[in-house]
Amino acid sequence: MPIGTIHIVGAGLAGLSSAVHLTARGHKVALYEAGQHAGGRCRSYHDKELDCLIDNGNHLMLSCNEEALTYLMLIGAEDTLQIAKGPIFPFTDLDSGERWTVRMNEGHFPSWIFNKKARVPGTAWHDYLDGFKLLSADRWQTVAQCLDTNSTLYQRFWQPLTVAIMNTQAQEASAQVFGNVLRKAFGAGGIGCKPVIVKEGLSQSFVQPAERFLKEHGATLHYGKRLRSVGLENDEVTTLRFADEIVQLEPWDWVILALPAWVINDMLPSLPTPTEFRSIVNAHFKIAAPAKSETGILGLIGGNVEWVFEKPDMLSTTTSAAEKIVDLPADEIATLLWRDLAKVYGLDPAAIPPHRIVKEKRATFAATPDQVMRRPIIAARHTNLVVAGDWTNTQLPSTIEGAIYSGHCAAEQIIR
Ligand SMILES: Cc1cc2nc3c(=O)[nH]c(=O)nc-3n(C[C@H](O)[C@H](O)[C@H](O)COP(=O)(O)OP(=O)(O)OC[C@H]3O[C@@H](n4cnc5c(N)ncnc54)[C@H](O)[C@@H]3O)c2cc1C
Repeated sequence: MPIGTIHIVGAGLAGLSSAVHLTARGHKVALYEAGQHAGGRCRSYHDKELDCLIDNGNHLMLSCNEEALTYLMLIGAEDTLQIAKGPIFPFTDLDSGERWTVRMNEGHFPSWIFNKKARVPGTAWHDYLDGFKLLSADRWQTVAQCLDTNSTLYQRFWQPLTVAIMNTQAQEASAQVFGNVLRKAFGAGGIGCKPVIVKEGLSQSFVQPAERFLKEHGATLHYGKRLRSVGLENDEVTTLRFADEIVQLEPWDWVILALPAWVINDMLPSLPTPTEFRSIVNAHFKIAAPAKSETGILGLIGGNVEWVFEKPDMLSTTTSAAEKIVDLPADEIATLLWRDLAKVYGLDPAAIPPHRIVKEKRATFAATPDQVMRRPIIAARHTNLVVAGDWTNTQLPSTIEGAIYSGHCAAEQIIR
């Protein structure tokens, strides 16, 4: 069967990934995005007040994220990443002031858990065996239900790791999805667990090189195009109704809707989608502080800040599943977060540097067992329509890797 133009709506990472994979295989693509820029929930921009480039949120990946790495290789942006020299995760406990570094070894056998200096202080090697329970969890179980929640390992390792990866508290996060991430990360050996961040900005890695690639490969990119509805006839999409234009589809044309779950929910009400979301609060403090982490990323336990990203002239923080603080005024949030940073970096808690608070209220879907069961598989919906997005059933949490994988799967569905 011939394939006509593939109309992709939504230029977040899922839509960009579909477009890149399809144009790379010689297909004709038209990409439509409601905003004036691509990138969706993974983008950077120039902040006028701080007069510097900031990301809408600090994004952390792992070296086992093969879909994301393949995508970056396709668009020629693999050199824009900063991969840590090893699977190393420095932490500080804000209450006790204790500092430690989880130092995994690179091979498959986790010899680091037998080394007191490489594992979490106050834990024994056999505590880590609990992790196996996550690999055999049933679909109704939460991470907390599989583990000993009173243990030091839970407080200092499993709980912070779950919130960081799932953007959902361990008490309600799906053990099965978390187990999938562990399987992928540890399955590759410690070498797959190296922290990966972008060198400059998210758009400079994931978005701008993709836009260049698409233009060079003949795709057409349309910004400021908000899709209002899809016109269906005999189970086939015939029109895309944008706010200012109706696009008529030709025979053999396809549509990929790479839109957020809540938009799809309005547009295709019969399709099950997650309906609950969790927020992330990021703060960017413009200050040159002496580095405390050998990887540039520091985990904090016991405060409002969970991760600090140390940059040459900036301390950026992440608070995931941030329902506790997201509705506070920005000034109050800045005070709370700066208090944690001042403690760790030996700075004055009253002298808050210039800052920007970025609240993403629907950063990801809530990765709870019941919401996970609302994720649809990536398959053709109607005769010529496929959906993509981090909320589709990738088996992964709502992440860069999940979004790019979903876009790739949608492209493969059409090619097949
Ligand atoms: C603050 C924050 C921190 C994060 N941290 C991490 C992290 O550390 N590691 C990690 O791996 N992941 C992280 N994520 C998750 C990751 O960013 C997302 O999973 C990913 O970007 C989702 O991509 P997507 O394409 O599925 O959706 P989106 O990015 O939401 O893309 C959907 C696109 O559709 C467009 N659109 C919406 N409605 C319409 C319409 N009607 N018509 C046309 N276009 C429309 C939107 O403007 C958007 O561009 C984080 C997310 C946030 C918000």
